[in-house]
Amino acid sequence: MAGPLLQLSDLHASYGPVHALRGVNVTVNEGEIVTLIGANGAGKSTLLMTICGNPQPSQGQILFQDRSLVGMPPHLIATQGIAQVPEGRRIFPRMTVLENLQLGATLADPAHFAEDLATCYALFPILETRQAQRAGTLSGGEQQMLAISRALMSRPRMLLLDEPSLGLAPLIIRQIFQVIEQLNRERGMTILLVEQNAYHALKLAHRAYVLASGEVVLTGSGRELLANEQVRAAYLEGG
Ligand code: ATP
Repeated sequence: MAGPLLQLSDLHASYGPVHALRGVNVTVNEGEIVTLIGANGAGKSTLLMTICGNPQPSQGQILFQDRSLVGMPPHLIATQGIAQVPEGRRIFPRMTVLENLQLGATLADPAHFAEDLATCYALFPILETRQAQRAGTLSGGEQQMLAISRALMSRPRMLLLDEPSLGLAPLIIRQIFQVIEQLNRERGMTILLVEQNAYHALKLAHRAYVLASGEVVLTGSGRELLANEQVRAAYLEGG
């Protein structure tokens, strides 16, 4: 595996008086799937959002391809090769599936559009069937597939996924995790994955971090954390 693509060092972020990240150190190497687990309110979404520039960190460093993202506005960070799939998907419900994908490609070279569209349709054939349909009429699982595809249309070097399994049926969850694994294995996509569904997310992770109250409290390979007693008690056995 190659060297670090993303490095967070001593990262702090706050919402007014709420100190949501308290000195986080996380590294994602090129070609890795890194998973972040933790209870509600641990700071997982804040970590992804801080990478994307909103909120800005109050302290610490974010290096992506050795370039600092600190102080860079979100619209410029989006041009650096990071694509975020936010919690709740945030697709454009009144636009068609195809229009959503075209929007995702705004920052990419138009010469790649047809090839990238074909890639998304190969990953999620249902999207091709539904390409003329308004996105708001899709099922939750289909909307998640569209959100991931929209992010891929920007040709990112790294994908940030915030709770892709949230609210989906078990069969669809399995399909989404299979595609995440396939994107990594076949296309070498580097992925930072935030999940409540700790079992699936640790199973496919090369490495993982456990976040609690804005701090990293445990780190190791996905396999190590799956076998860890504390992780099992807090995130696996209870549900
Ligand atoms: P969840 O799984 O519930 O999304 P999380 O681990 O992603 O949890 P965050 O959403 O990052 O956690 O929240 C971290 C802390 O920051 C929590 O105390 C939360 O209440 C607070 N917080 C998050 N967003 C805001 C906001 N926009 N304004 C104020 N406080 C916020």
